[in-house]
Amino acid sequence: MGVRVPLGTPKFINIKKDDFMQEKFMQEALKEAKKAYEKMEVPVGCVIVKDNKIIARAHNLKETKFDTTKHAEILAIQKASKKLKSWRLLNCEMYITLEPCSMCAGAIINSRIKKVYIGALDEKTGAAGSVLNLFEDYCFNHKVEIEKNVLKNECEEILKNFFKELRVIKSKK
Ligand SMILES: [Zn+2]
Repeated sequence: MGVRVPLGTPKFINIKKDDFMQEKFMQEALKEAKKAYEKMEVPVGCVIVKDNKIIARAHNLKETKFDTTKHAEILAIQKASKKLKSWRLLNCEMYITLEPCSMCAGAIINSRIKKVYIGALDEKTGAAGSVLNLFEDYCFNHKVEIEKNVLKNECEEILKNFFKELRVIKSKK
């Protein structure tokens, strides 16, 4: 009797490796979210990856800049475009700690980003399925792949802690 090798083992190993990379990059996006938190901004962080390297990183700066367009995704797209000297972010992947809003989803589609990894979902403004789904329900010239729930708990946790702290601060005023 020979040793029974489970079918599909190599595939399983590949999936594990991909998971590891995804989590690694989402951890980097979380670091950005923490920077936003320290500035008392809603903690959302984002990194853009090309060829397994981070080419841009950003966090939400809406309050600091008094500008509703200063979402982490928009800022990261601007930085990546500058770096690649192109508005087309071909073969780039984005990691965001929170589901993008409709503005950012539009920018992601327009920038030709290949794939987006999302941490927590946003029931109030999420445009990747929570409120609407810009990535799947409409036929644009570019299709973005979406993967949700990457380090979901960690991404939810930082937001929960932030809003909890905010409520405490407000109640003291
Ligand atoms: Zn946004």
